[in-house]
Amino acid sequence: MSEDRFDVIIVGAGPAGSTAAYILAGAGKEVLLIERGDEPGAKNMTGGRLYGHSLEKIIPGFAQEAPLERRIVKETVSFLTSDTSVSFDLQSELLGSGGKESYSVLRAEFDCWLAKKAEKAGAILVTGIRVDDLFMEEGRVKGVIAGEDIMEAGVVILADGVNSLLAQKIGMKQELKPHQAAVGAKEIIELPGEVIEDRFNLHEGEGAARLFVGDCTKGRIGGGFLYTNKKSISLGLVFTLSDLQSWEKTVPEMVEDFKHHPAVSPLIKGGRTLEYSAHLVPEAGYSMIPKLYGDGVVVVGDAAGFVINIGYMVRGMDLAIASGEAAAKAIISAHDVYTTQALSRYRKLLEESFVIRDLKQYSKFPAFLNNKRIFNEYPQLIAELMTDFFSVDGSPVPPMMKRILKPVKKVGLMKVASDVWKGVRAL
Ligand SMILES: Cc1cc2nc3c(=O)[nH]c(=O)nc-3n(C[C@H](O)[C@H](O)[C@H](O)COP(=O)(O)OP(=O)(O)OC[C@H]3O[C@@H](n4cnc5c(N)ncnc54)[C@H](O)[C@@H]3O)c2cc1C
Repeated sequence: MSEDRFDVIIVGAGPAGSTAAYILAGAGKEVLLIERGDEPGAKNMTGGRLYGHSLEKIIPGFAQEAPLERRIVKETVSFLTSDTSVSFDLQSELLGSGGKESYSVLRAEFDCWLAKKAEKAGAILVTGIRVDDLFMEEGRVKGVIAGEDIMEAGVVILADGVNSLLAQKIGMKQELKPHQAAVGAKEIIELPGEVIEDRFNLHEGEGAARLFVGDCTKGRIGGGFLYTNKKSISLGLVFTLSDLQSWEKTVPEMVEDFKHHPAVSPLIKGGRTLEYSAHLVPEAGYSMIPKLYGDGVVVVGDAAGFVINIGYMVRGMDLAIASGEAAAKAIISAHDVYTTQALSRYRKLLEESFVIRDLKQYSKFPAFLNNKRIFNEYPQLIAELMTDFFSVDGSPVPPMMKRILKPVKKVGLMKVASDVWKGVRAL
């Protein structure tokens, strides 16, 4: 191997890239992992929850050594109007055990840890270097170009995230369309650990995850999220790009409004904002999967659109890790012959795993979510219904069915029935 030639070059040290680097280096491949941030994770953002199953398979017992924040044992979904919140709450040890564990994470620490694991396995990690282009010869990818430097490799893994310009440059992926991506904006708000535990009814080490629908996006498509960390709270909003132009407020203003909602402000009271960040999220699921492999190249993680957003659950990191694993395994089994044919095993492995199966399972959901009633009229309906159920003012109480039908009729009985049917089918 010449000094500038590697078996594998990986662009991007997020969960997808570092996982692939860890497995490939562990299998004896010469791996170069290139990250444009000063540190892995420095440029990354997530809502905050890692579903642990895919990493557990690769690094058994990872939770004992990884810089995780809290093990999630409490889930809450809240429907918001401007002055009301109706919440569905689930608190159970079963959520955080038996292979179903999920953890709040802060990417600056988590990504660094995973990239260091890859380094310890033998990968070379370089940070602060942006890959500008792919080095091509005779129509196949032969390496990467960063500034004046060309670095050659048998195969290149594109793990460069949602907006993968490199995959676009070689025609494997189209430019993102507004309906295919959402913008996420998040603050990390510092609070003492005991205050978090008191406010969210948690024991030490336990964490809560909350999702919000309705007034937090002013009825537009999207939602709010909150994850408890050890000594901070991750709080933010996600909304589709296609809606953004019609907003009268800026994204930071919307986050500020969300922080002042009566259901949210007591949760973050006394907290100090440590960090604000914004990032794109691929939203269109199965329908936006690009060409996944070609001569000398594979695409993994967000770059391949591997994110599932089904309203009450956002998953991208566990898919990124599993796709990094599948790419690494396909490369190992290609025995140094990285043709399109040899790398087609990557797609096969993904199809056999939960990645493609889950994306297919939820493939109708992005279209279902493209319905403003879910974010506007239904939170209003639920708030009216529940407020009515719990109100006693001395006037005669109408029969239950009448009380239910009153707000439902405001939306339209057929519309509600049709949306419920479509929602169940989409799931
Ligand atoms: C607001 C929000 C909330 C989310 N919530 C959750 C959640 O709760 N749970 C969950 O599982 N997922 C969540 N996700 C999705 C999750 O964060 C992503 O799916 C995951 O980070 C994808 O990992 P990745 O390795 O593919 O890409 P990334 O994490 O984006 O990593 C890509 C890396 O490539 C680097 N890079 C890019 N271009 C170059 C270049 N040219 N040269 C060198 N380096 C480059 C970047 O700096 C970055 O480090 C959320 C996302 C957002 C934005």
